Amino acid sequence: MTTPTHNDLAASAIDLARELIRRPSVTPDDAGCQQLIGERLRTSGFQVTHQRFGAVDNLWARHGDASPTLVLLGHTDVVPPGDDAAWQTPPFAGAIHQGRIWGRGAADMKGSVAAMVVAAEAFVRCHPDHHGSIALLLTSDEEGPAIDGTRRMVEWLTERGERIDYCIVGEPSSTERAGDTVRVGRRGTLSGELTVHGVQGHVAYPQRARNPVHELAPALTALIAKHWDDGDDDFPPTSFQVSNLHAGTGADNVIPATAELSFNFRYGTASPAEKLQSGVRTLLDEHDLDYALSWRHGGEPFRTPPGPLRDTVIDAVRSVTGSAPETSTAGGTSDGRFVAPTGAQVLELGPCNATIHQVNEHVALDDLATIVAIQGRILEQLLLRGD
Ligand SMILES: [Zn+2]
Repeated sequence: MTTPTHNDLAASAIDLARELIRRPSVTPDDAGCQQLIGERLRTSGFQVTHQRFGAVDNLWARHGDASPTLVLLGHTDVVPPGDDAAWQTPPFAGAIHQGRIWGRGAADMKGSVAAMVVAAEAFVRCHPDHHGSIALLLTSDEEGPAIDGTRRMVEWLTERGERIDYCIVGEPSSTERAGDTVRVGRRGTLSGELTVHGVQGHVAYPQRARNPVHELAPALTALIAKHWDDGDDDFPPTSFQVSNLHAGTGADNVIPATAELSFNFRYGTASPAEKLQSGVRTLLDEHDLDYALSWRHGGEPFRTPPGPLRDTVIDAVRSVTGSAPETSTAGGTSDGRFVAPTGAQVLELGPCNATIHQVNEHVALDDLATIVAIQGRILEQLLLRGD
């Protein structure tokens, strides 16, 4: 058997990415993407399960039954293209020009999914008796409510006793060229709604009223000035931001009855959510406010510290691109948040994110080739040890 060259693999990933883009899989419609991928992986010896929850198609494909299990995580759904006429080429054509594939999902994330499939096929073809297991977990509900997708699949895997040790999310993590940035975690998000109660009255008779804006002001100054933590190597210091502030009846001679404040924390692992919540309460109590406070917890922070997965990914990027990636916890949410709580090490690595969700979304052919090569290298490093 001949070993495929890097060029063969890159060409194969480009072809598959274009086939996937031609299936208009706007969330939660998978439009046959997972059927196509499942058939290919089954041919390569993977155990393939199609698992539908509600309107959402999910795919679990596994090769090997030993640990450690390395999971490549992705989604086949895309956001709507918007106005087709605004695109240089039709959004579901997968046209190639200027060294790029153009179309909805090219960067987020059918290019990455195609690279995963091709890298996984090539790996098991060359190393059928590899160490551990390799699996692909795909959903058609990443861009939507994200309830019946990866979240449900992780529950389903846990019920079956299938443990994930390492997970690489193919989300577009890079900035200028593929591999320049790897996401090693994500900040938590915690929102609060504060209502400060006063006593409404005439501005000319303040002794008969209590102004909640005046009472809130020094407390708000203290909240803004407060240093919550120093952050650490992976996370910047916790940030507190006011998003909304409302008070007043509209009249210029009325002291309002209430003042309402909305705020959000983006936080790392240095300050657990409970600590931020109790810190806010303590500060408000010190200012002797009459208040009501409610919270909405959007997600816990997670990170993968230096260790087998992070070290391997950084080495793989360096060996393929010639330079080490920047590690970052920036950016929005991804389905990695559902995998990290199981104890898995989770990293995100994919092509450039400059055009995601935009008109004329594209991915560079060179970047796809780089991603396939990095993924292949990671598989070899993690699943050939001990052979
Ligand atoms: Zn995505």
